[in-house]
Amino acid sequence: WGPGGDDGQPRRGATGPVRVRVPAKINLHLGVGPLRPDGYHELNTVYHAISIHDELTARHGDTLTLTMEGEGTGELALDETNLIIRAARALAAHTRVPAHARLHLRKQIPLAGGLAGGSADAAATLLACDTLWGTGLSRDELADIGAGLGSDVPFLVHGGTALGTGHGETVSPVLARPSTWHWVVAVADGGLSTPEVYREIDRLRDAGTAPAALGSADSLLAALRQRDPAVLGAALGNDLQPAAVSLRPALADVLDAGRAAGALAGLVSGSGPTCVFLATDAADARRIAAELATTGVCREARTAHGPVAGARIV
Ligand code: ATP
Repeated sequence: WGPGGDDGQPRRGATGPVRVRVPAKINLHLGVGPLRPDGYHELNTVYHAISIHDELTARHGDTLTLTMEGEGTGELALDETNLIIRAARALAAHTRVPAHARLHLRKQIPLAGGLAGGSADAAATLLACDTLWGTGLSRDELADIGAGLGSDVPFLVHGGTALGTGHGETVSPVLARPSTWHWVVAVADGGLSTPEVYREIDRLRDAGTAPAALGSADSLLAALRQRDPAVLGAALGNDLQPAAVSLRPALADVLDAGRAAGALAGLVSGSGPTCVFLATDAADARRIAAELATTGVCREARTAHGPVAGARIV
């Protein structure tokens, strides 16, 4: 580390590798409003960071390079289209430093899973490169740069549980007494395209076959304060679920299997196809995951807890 500035933050950048862990997100409430003229939908969402993490390591280099291992290796392009490269370039442009770094991703968050893995990686890159380069931005500044890369990036800079408005990029923390929720995450084979899922909900709404929109997150926020998993389970909701199930009808079997395994509630995560199930405690989550794994309805059933911190140096 170089010497700290007035606020104790390093100013000269790190000499050695910088390693950042970043979580996946689920949406406890995803209220999707009408399509706006700018092409975005107005969202009322409650983000929740869970303990499935990607890890990004940044080292000094003469150019900008990216390598990876884990989920999606061989499938995910590592070129200029990757959100990691785009995040590094955006930070370099903002702070007027050369975008030079050797970046390595260890990916556990499934690709195109509705868990915002790409946004998580962008958030991790902003923090890792800011530290490597000694550009000393605040978390709020990193979140502002992140908003230009993807709606979920600002949340993943901060983590925890937070209300998201606008198209999801405006986040404010949910101030609740700390309690930990236990989840089972049913990972699907293959992803779903987020824009396609949004187009499908618009189509279902135009056809008059979509359920009424959820609207505000007030009842979910009230349920969170009660700290009772059964109460939270009853309040979970996702306007994109009918669209994800319409595009991938087998998701109905996943949701049924989770409930049959004893989950308090289950829902599609974001735009899917990952499904998440609420358990009463950690042991219950392990039992549900084991049972779900035997049904063959998903590629993998993992346990996770939340809320967890956003992008953090480890
Ligand atoms: P969303 O944030 O839209 O809900 P998601 O969670 O469904 O997305 P992601 O894994 O974040 O899915 O990525 C969606 C697409 O973004 C991928 O299919 C890929 O083409 C592109 N992408 C670019 N960079 C990355 C990255 N570092 N990790 C994952 N996907 C990336």
